[in-house]
Amino acid sequence: MRNEKGSLIRPHPLPRSASRPVVTPLSPSVVYASDTPDALDDQYEGRVHGYTYAREGHPNADVVAARLDEMEGVTGGIVVGSGMAAVTAALLGLLKSGDHVIGGNQLYGRSLRLMTEDLPRLGISTTLIDPGDVDAMRAAITPQTKMILIEVVSNPTLRLADISGLAALARETDVLLAVDNTFTTPRAFLPYEHGADIVIHSLTKLLSGHSDVMLGYVSARDPELAEKLRIFATTTGLSPSPFDCWLAERGMLSFELRFDRAQATAARLADHVATLPGVARVIYPGRSDHPDAGRAQELLDGQYCNMLSFELEGRRAAANAFTRAADGLAFAPTLGDVGTTLSHPASSSHRALSPDDRAALGLSEGFFRVSVGLENPEELMQIFTNAILATHDLT
Ligand code: PLP
Repeated sequence: MRNEKGSLIRPHPLPRSASRPVVTPLSPSVVYASDTPDALDDQYEGRVHGYTYAREGHPNADVVAARLDEMEGVTGGIVVGSGMAAVTAALLGLLKSGDHVIGGNQLYGRSLRLMTEDLPRLGISTTLIDPGDVDAMRAAITPQTKMILIEVVSNPTLRLADISGLAALARETDVLLAVDNTFTTPRAFLPYEHGADIVIHSLTKLLSGHSDVMLGYVSARDPELAEKLRIFATTTGLSPSPFDCWLAERGMLSFELRFDRAQATAARLADHVATLPGVARVIYPGRSDHPDAGRAQELLDGQYCNMLSFELEGRRAAANAFTRAADGLAFAPTLGDVGTTLSHPASSSHRALSPDDRAALGLSEGFFRVSVGLENPEELMQIFTNAILATHDLT
């Protein structure tokens, strides 16, 4: 079909080329044309692979999903529009009214909100339990319990879940174990090898790595569950944008190098910060004084990740002085960026809690979480030294 000037309304085929692009092409097309209704039947009935409508799937999403499936050791995972879309798909795509789900009591804040506000509204009851306490989890299981949702390392106190105990409990009681592997990534932890049934990621974080993409991933060991997740995400429109997927793939190409570098720096920075005056404690899973050091060693096998937390002795004034003096480091509530970022739970992720509830979690006004990036380690340690010394005598 041509326009009034005689040009084709839809573009001509791509110029022929005997060579092919090295980089995955970006495919922003929302809709795909087929030759005939028979050809469409072949596609819908699975005899040939093809795309129809981008909400149902597109090449850039499939490239990212395949890469993550390979890392996690599974097939049939899907990419969705955010980490929270992945959490939502796992919960709402697999549970129904009348079911009960147990969540880790230190899940990411929005996951907690979904558990405490939205699921009960839809008739799904929830209980929050410390994922390090298998006995408490066991006591919370009822005949209606269908799923346990946990993170491997809690945010921001960096405690380790008892994954082996929880996987055994889930098997024994026929409950699905869903693991949000965002913090740990497949570099440090492979949930399916430890008995998980469902794996979730926020790709927004380390895997994409540049704070310019918002995406999530969810997969299931059982192909029937994977198909349910795919259908739910398609129907409810959790679908990702091709450009975000394209950016995510680009970030993932350097993920392992970035992870290794940031992790090595985090280990050094944790030990360095622990020597500075005015620091009450440092939390890093690779340190021998971590409350779950043994479990961290067993589960993470030397990959202690890029996240550390520490507590300044002072109160809010000290916290303000620290972020002001932390030259060049973004005070921003995210993680996994190429640059080091600082988060202050009392004024951000945990601000809705009462001071008593925050205190029960050990989150004082001096508590910071650090997502270590790719800076020169020596320079980074110097920045922390200067910023922490700037807090002296402030309470
Ligand atoms: N899961 C964890 C552990 C997270 O830290 C986050 C976000 O910080 C999410 C899920 C949600 O991911 P997104 O921000 O991509 O929706």
